[in-house]
Amino acid sequence: MDDIFGGIRSFLEEGKASGLKTPCYLIDEKKLEANGKVLASVISRTGCRILLAQKAFSNYDFYPLIEEYISGTEASGLFEARLGKEEMPSKEVHVFCAAYRDDEFGELLDYADHIVFNSVNQLKKFGPVAKQNGKSLGLRINPECSTQEDHAIYDPCAKGSRLGVIGSVWDKEMTDDIFELLDGLHFHTLCEQDSDALETTLKAVEEKFGDVIPKMKWLNMGGGHHITKADYDVARLEKCIKYAKEKWGVQVYLEPGEAVALNAGYLVSRILDIVENNGIKIAILDSSAACHMPDVIEMPYTPPLLDASRDGSMPYSYRLGGPTCLSGDVIGDYTFDRELNIGDVLVFGDMAIYTTCKNNTFNGMPLPDIYRLGKDGRAEKLTDFGYGDFKHRLGR
Ligand SMILES: *Cc1c(COP(=O)(O)O)cnc(C)c1O
Repeated sequence: MDDIFGGIRSFLEEGKASGLKTPCYLIDEKKLEANGKVLASVISRTGCRILLAQKAFSNYDFYPLIEEYISGTEASGLFEARLGKEEMPSKEVHVFCAAYRDDEFGELLDYADHIVFNSVNQLKKFGPVAKQNGKSLGLRINPECSTQEDHAIYDPCAKGSRLGVIGSVWDKEMTDDIFELLDGLHFHTLCEQDSDALETTLKAVEEKFGDVIPKMKWLNMGGGHHITKADYDVARLEKCIKYAKEKWGVQVYLEPGEAVALNAGYLVSRILDIVENNGIKIAILDSSAACHMPDVIEMPYTPPLLDASRDGSMPYSYRLGGPTCLSGDVIGDYTFDRELNIGDVLVFGDMAIYTTCKNNTFNGMPLPDIYRLGKDGRAEKLTDFGYGDFKHRLGR
C-alpha cells in the first residue's frame, strides 16, 4: 500500500499547515521525483520514450524537475502543445486532438513534433502540410477492445466511440497515398489500469492492425498505465514494450498523465460548519468537489483523506461536502477516530492530477492557491487567485 500522505506528514507535524490560506493545493516535489525515477527506469531498461500527458497535470513550475526523467510532453490541442513547447523546450512535443481546426493548425506546426490524427479524413486534410513542415504523423486506431467496466465514460473502445479509427473503417477509407503520410500509430484505451490490460489490448491491436505496424516508425501506446502505483506489474509492461519493438521494429511511446504525478499533491481544506440530517453529521468544507476535485463527481470516486477511513473502520462518521449550492457537492463519507470541529484542517491526497488543470469557479468559488512542497519540506506559493480570475472569464 502506498503511503499517500508520506510527503506531507512532517510538514503537518511542524504545524506549518495552520498558516496556509485554505483551500490550497500543495504539489509534492519529492513524490514527483520518485515517480520520475520509476518512469526513467522503464525508459532505460526498454529504450521506450515516455511523455507527460499534460491534460492530467500541467503545473509547469515542475517541468524542469519532470524533464530530468522523461522524454517530453503530450498535448490535447493548441494551448497544451504551446505550453509543452514553452516550458519543456528541449524535449519532444506530441499532440492528439479528436479534430483539429483550420484556424489553429498553422500555429500548431510551430509547437508540435508529432501530430496524431483521429480520422483518415483529418489525416488527408492536414497531413500534407504537416509533412511539408517536417512533422512526424500518426493516426489513432481503435482496437475495439474494452478492458474496463468501472469507468465507462473513460472507455474509448465502447460501441459508438468517436475516438480512433476502427479496422473496418480503415479498410473502407485508407488509400495508398494517405497511408504514405503515416509515420506511426497511436492507441489510447486504458484508464488507471495494470499492464495485463495493456497485454490484452496489444493482442487486439496486433490482430486488427498487425499487417501495417511493421511499416511504421513508432507505436504510441497512449496513457492510462498506472505505472507508479505500488503494485503495478512493471515487468509485464516492459515485456509488452520489448515485444512491440522486436516484432515490428518500432519506437514505442507511452504518454501517461496520472502516473507522472500520482499521489504527488494534497488539497488542504478547513471545516466551515457542521450540520446534521437524519442522524448523519455533515461537515461543510471550504473546498468543493464540484469545483476543486471534479473527478470525484465525474468518475466518481472518494478521495483519500489523511487520518480518516473510507471503509467505516473508525468510530466517528461524517459526510464531507462543499460550500456550493449543488446538492451533490459531496466529497464522500468518512470515519474518524475523533469528533471533528469547526476550523479543523483536513488534507485530501492524490490531488495533483486532474485537479489544478480541471478546476472551475462555479458558484463564484475561488480557485485554490497552488504551493510547491519542496524537497526541503518548505511550502512556497507558486500562484494565487482572486475575484479577478472569477470575473474575467465572464465578460469585460
Ligand atoms: C487521457 C489521455 C492520456 C493520459 O491518460 P492518464 O490516464 O492520465 O494516464 C494520454 N493520451 C491520451 C490520448 C489521452 O486522452
